[in-house]
Amino acid sequence: MNTRYHSAMNLQGRTVLVTGASRGIGRAIALRLAREGTAVAVNYHHSATDAENVVALIHQQSGRALAVQADVGDAGEVRAMAQRITRDLGAIDILINNAGVLARGDLADFDYTQMESMRRTNVDGLVHVTRAVVDGMKARGFGRIVNLTSIAAHGTTLSGTTFYAATKAAVITLTRRFALELGRHGITVNAVAPGFIQTDMATGGRSPAEAQATIDAMAARAMVRRTGLPEDIANAVAFLVSPESSFITAQTITVDGGRMDYIAHP
Ligand code: NAP
Repeated sequence: MNTRYHSAMNLQGRTVLVTGASRGIGRAIALRLAREGTAVAVNYHHSATDAENVVALIHQQSGRALAVQADVGDAGEVRAMAQRITRDLGAIDILINNAGVLARGDLADFDYTQMESMRRTNVDGLVHVTRAVVDGMKARGFGRIVNLTSIAAHGTTLSGTTFYAATKAAVITLTRRFALELGRHGITVNAVAPGFIQTDMATGGRSPAEAQATIDAMAARAMVRRTGLPEDIANAVAFLVSPESSFITAQTITVDGGRMDYIAHP
């Protein structure tokens, strides 16, 4: 890779926790930050083999990484995970709250149990993990936190995402409030709002033909006429945890190729 670019990031010696890093966007973030020289904790919920594969890829590049199982919605599991990472990898300097789920539903077909389970991961999970790492960051006077929201929170027109959008709107608000609380301790808190990114979440449960039709439809709604790759999001996250962005906090960076289908803003 380009070594001048590598040194510009200057993340050598930092330890990062990426939640939901076994697949999709989290996986790309873990691989990218490992390339920048960080030691990476690869959190997962169910996909142990996928998480171990991410760790193996990082080891192949002579990086440091550890797979750690925890349900982010369970505060006890999250605390145990943070302790293990600190012991085995190092004090957590950078947190990427990426783990998330999409339970489809609109007003007409609201399912409380499903929606509560989604909120538990997307909102409570973010709070649990942030609380588990933030005291250490405060004590050291340094921290970088990036939360994964979605353009759904800005008000896209995609059906089936009404309550998912609400959980992601909460992520934006928590980003701003945590930034307000933590800025004086040398901790920045920002969010990234992806558009349509080709992962299991975006295309899962569809036949290859249906998935391609969805990709084509979403590409047509973006100014740059393509859908995103997990690496597009990893690039934005890498910038937000780098020294170059130390004066940026409480912000949401939208990475959506210029999506045009926003409610009431055609
Ligand atoms: P994905 O492919 O479905 O992967 C989700 C990841 O989150 C997996 O690693 C999964 O772990 C983990 N996860 C789920 N529930 C968890 C829990 N309770 N505890 C710990 N880990 C958990 O999703 P993705 O598309 O990469 O999405 C990543 C983030 O970006 C999410 O927050 C999502 O809302 C957001 N986003 C995605 C898109 C998109 O188009 N893809 C757009 C906007 C925003 P296991 O593998 O172990 O289950």
